[in-house]
Amino acid sequence: GGNKMNLKDYIASIPDYPSKGIVFRDISPLMADGEAYRAATKQIVDYAQEKEIDMVVGPEARGFIVGCPVAFELGVGFAPVRKPGKLPRKTISVSYDLEYGSDTLTLHEDAIKPGQKVLICDDLLATGGTIKATIELVEKLGGVVVGCAFLIELQDLHGRDKIEGYDMLTLMEY
Ligand code: 5GP
Repeated sequence: GGNKMNLKDYIASIPDYPSKGIVFRDISPLMADGEAYRAATKQIVDYAQEKEIDMVVGPEARGFIVGCPVAFELGVGFAPVRKPGKLPRKTISVSYDLEYGSDTLTLHEDAIKPGQKVLICDDLLATGGTIKATIELVEKLGGVVVGCAFLIELQDLHGRDKIEGYDMLTLMEY
């Protein structure tokens, strides 16, 4: 068990999903296995342990799956980053470019207090657009991003370059 477990055994690779030429990395087998899910969570918790995290932030929807158990284990709160129109109170928003068009993410304006140390969690780093927008949201509120943790990094897409200077952890690389 524990550290000797190979987490990649719990990732399903789906060719041509959601469109031709894309290999989708599906984390649901990892979530479905209690030992694997716990082992992945523990690695992120160990990474965060020395950082004196005040809040965990995660973008919908799989950022919740990764971030919430980490927040629970650290004994801190979790703030959800969501698509427009999903958060009921006053929000701030950040837009970012996609290959075709653009996307917007939002965060409740009282989700983070100035000076709070924030860990951002998501399942996967691809182009880096999502993490970059999430960092911007946290920083707009005066939060300090002390780490970014992902289960998976797709190295060919160079998302890492978009968040240069930020500390980051990835558990699996493809
Ligand atoms: P990025 O903004 O870095 O290009 O894309 C990352 C976001 O898209 C993450 O929130 C992630 O959930 C989602 N995503 C993109 N490709 C994949 C994939 O192959 N597998 C999974 N699980 N999520 C993906």
